[in-house]
Parts: sequence; structure tokens; C-alpha cells
Amino acid sequence: MARISDLLAGGRTCSFEFFPPKHEAGWLSLGRTISELEDLQPDFVSVTYGAGGSTRTKTADLVSWVRRQTAIAPMAHLTCQGHTRADIRDILMDYRAENVENILALGGDPPAHGADPVPSDYRFSGELVDDIREFGGFSVGVAAHPELHPRSPDRDTDRRHLADKLQRADFAITQFFFDVEHYRQMVDELADLGTTKPVVPGIMPISNLGQVTRMAHMSGAEVPEWVQKAMSKAGDDLDEGERIGVELATELCARLLEAGAPGLHFYTLNRSWATRQIFANLNLRA
Ligand code: FAD
Repeated sequence: MARISDLLAGGRTCSFEFFPPKHEAGWLSLGRTISELEDLQPDFVSVTYGAGGSTRTKTADLVSWVRRQTAIAPMAHLTCQGHTRADIRDILMDYRAENVENILALGGDPPAHGADPVPSDYRFSGELVDDIREFGGFSVGVAAHPELHPRSPDRDTDRRHLADKLQRADFAITQFFFDVEHYRQMVDELADLGTTKPVVPGIMPISNLGQVTRMAHMSGAEVPEWVQKAMSKAGDDLDEGERIGVELATELCARLLEAGAPGLHFYTLNRSWATRQIFANLNLRA
């Protein structure tokens, strides 16, 4: 198995993100997706976690399944929200017992529909990083928001907190974005603050303008006018929407590779087609 810090030290990585499905049919289709994407020889795959522990068992089940049934290194997402320090210790003990070596330490999305946040021993993801470090044995990643975290009061404060948690972790993975300049600027700002740890850009191949606009709004990302214009050409044609989304993502990946990104992390939404097309377009893993 492999620690992501070692993989990144060895060269550029490619990785995929999945979420634990809610229903049986989703698990069957995810099994197919993983087997199709396994052919692309990803360096690692990551599995999301419902903040407040809502997918605790399902995330652990999927991470363990990947660990046992494939040759790919899994990374488990873990959030501050809804956890005591004792909970986190239990979860880490279970992952250690399964030989899972990678954790993405996150603040966690607030509960949906304006519900109260679930009580937690942690306020910010940096505190979770420290506890995982103290527990020992894991390569630890954190989240980065190229266009700033929506709760950050200003750019300088956002970058100082990001630099601080990244110093304590091994690497970061970014929220999705469409303009390579957001990534470049963030990496430069981190370097100015003395942080040069790898920041892997997160790529979202989009297929539907409405859906991506909602997701971008929640994560503080901008959907630039040129993306909106390109996607609106598809109208109600879903296949054309997917094709244009792949074109846009291919162009972004090419620019990120030119800019020296240490890897590419794909938000697959549990589907394989778009990611496979982008790999083929860029001749990745050829
Ligand atoms: P934090 O690092 O805690 O930051 C949150 C805010 O607090 C920021 O404004 C930051 O500037 C500020 N802050 C940080 N440290 C301090 C400090 N010491 N003092 C004062 N302010 C501080 N969510 C999920 O629920 N499950 C997932 O599986 C998941 N996966 C994700 C994967 C990736 C790659 C990314 C980019 C995001 C993911 N998210 C996930 C979303 C993430 O949990 C949310 O964006 C959340 O709102 C913030 O997470 P964070 O880790 O950046 O939080």
C-alpha cells in the first residue's frame, strides 16, 4: 500500500474521488465505475465523509473495500463536525487495523437545511490534523479553496489559515475551480507565506450548468462567463453538455500540468466516462 506523501514525492499523481452511495443500486454502479477507472492506474482514490458522521460506516466500508479488493491506495475523508476526540481515535484505530494510510482532514460541510451544527471537540481542521499526527502513522491531507473559503473574512486571513494547516499536514487537495489563474495565485501566495507543500488541484468535469452553478455557489467557486456560455450551447442535450464539460476540463488539466501541478484529482461523482475521456485526450497513463 502507499502513503500519498510518498506518492507525491515520487512524481505527478492522478486520483479519483467517490462518495458512498445511499442505495443498493448505487453500490452496484459504483463497483462498475471503480473497475473501469482502475484501468487508468490511479495512484490513490478518496472517499467522502458525511459531516457529523452521517456516512461513518459507509465511508469506512468503501475505504476498506478499495483497500482489500483493488491495488489502489485509498484515502478516507474525515470531518471535525460532530466528533469528539474519542470518536476520532476510534475511527483512526479502525483505519489503522485495516492498513489504511491516508486521511483527508476537513472542517466538514455544515448540516443541510439550516439545521444546528452537530457539537464537536474541534473547531477547525488544523486541530484534527494535529490529533491525527499525534495518533501517528497516517499521511494527512487538507482542503484548499483557490477562490477562498466562503466563511473567510478576507484573502489574507484565508491564506494564513490555509498556510498554517498545510504546514502541519503533508499535502492539500483543492475545491474545484475553472480558471487556472486561481490555482496559480493560491500557490504563489502560499509560497510567499513559506509553504511549498504539494497542492493537488481538484477537477470537476461538468455536464450540466444548473447543477454546477448550485455546487459552485455552496463552495465559493465562480462559474466564469466563458464556462456559462460554452455550457449553454448544449441546451437540454445532456450528451452535448457532457462533451463540452470534458472539453473544458481537458483544457484546464492541460494548463494545470503546464503550471507544474503535482497531480490531478478528479471529482468523479461516481461516474467514469468523463474522466476516461480526459485521460484519453491528454494521453495520461498512455
Ligand atoms: P477549515 O480548515 O476548518 O476552515 C474553515 C474556515 O475556518 C475557513 O474560512 C478558514 O479560513 C477558517 N479557519 C481555519 N483555521 C482557523 C483558525 N485557526 N482560526 C480561525 N479561522 C480558521 N465536506 C464534507 O463534509 N465531507 C467531505 O468528505 C468533504 N470532502 C472535501 C474534499 C475536498 C478536496 C474539499 C476541498 C472540500 C471537502 N469538503 C467535504 C468540504 C469542506 O468540509 C468544507 O469546505 C468546509 O466548509 C471547510 O472545510 P476546511 O477543511 O477547509 O475547514
